Amino acid sequence: MKNFCPQCGSEQGPFVKNFCVKCFTQARQLLELPPVVELPHCPHCNKVRFREKWVGQSEADLQAILVSKARVRELASPRFSVELSPQENGTTQALVTVRGKMDGAEVAVQRLTLIKPLSGTCDSCMKLSSYYHESIVQLRFPKDLENDEVHGYRSLVKAELDRMREEDPLSGLIDSFVVPKGLDFFIGSKHAGKKLSLLLARKTHGKITRSFKLMGVNKSGKEKKRYTFCVRVK
Ligand SMILES: [Zn+2]
Ligand SMILES: [Zn+2]
Repeated sequence: MKNFCPQCGSEQGPFVKNFCVKCFTQARQLLELPPVVELPHCPHCNKVRFREKWVGQSEADLQAILVSKARVRELASPRFSVELSPQENGTTQALVTVRGKMDGAEVAVQRLTLIKPLSGTCDSCMKLSSYYHESIVQLRFPKDLENDEVHGYRSLVKAELDRMREEDPLSGLIDSFVVPKGLDFFIGSKHAGKKLSLLLARKTHGKITRSFKLMGVNKSGKEKKRYTFCVRVK
């Protein structure tokens, strides 16, 4: 006896509960996904907020967010893949495919959803825009710096902080000053200030001294300090 789909008459297998795979998946909500996924988006660093955290918008990050919004029914060992198409208006169209086994047959279901950014500013960018700085890096020389030296150190510091920001969102240059015999840099994060001072010391064969100032106590009773890393060049 030949198998055929009672819905469309197709004799093309495989069959799931007597229906062809196409009719079966159409009839059932094997994959449920909201048609629109709204995510707070920071225009300064391009991160989105998900479960109280600000994350990047790499394909892996967005896929993890979509998978968490999806509900899969009756498919054994489901595997997801997501195809993203950024639109001109800032939204991103996402085609979500889930593959899995049902009654031994391989089944694939697709849903289209729209990722919509909502405007917001992330905590780090908020801090960076409000003159927040956990560290100060001082560069000190035996004599005043020439203009081109000032320019050279400033662009070096900016480039290094930009590079560090991928891992540490607070590594931003808040301000910089020319002072007698040197330069001061205000840096968002303590960690970035420390790394930067090590790098400058290596480049200039300088020596680092570290000090800190108590800035207050936070709600949980922890002391807040501002660190100064001074690089002295002979
Ligand atoms: Zn059919
Ligand atoms: Zn941001």
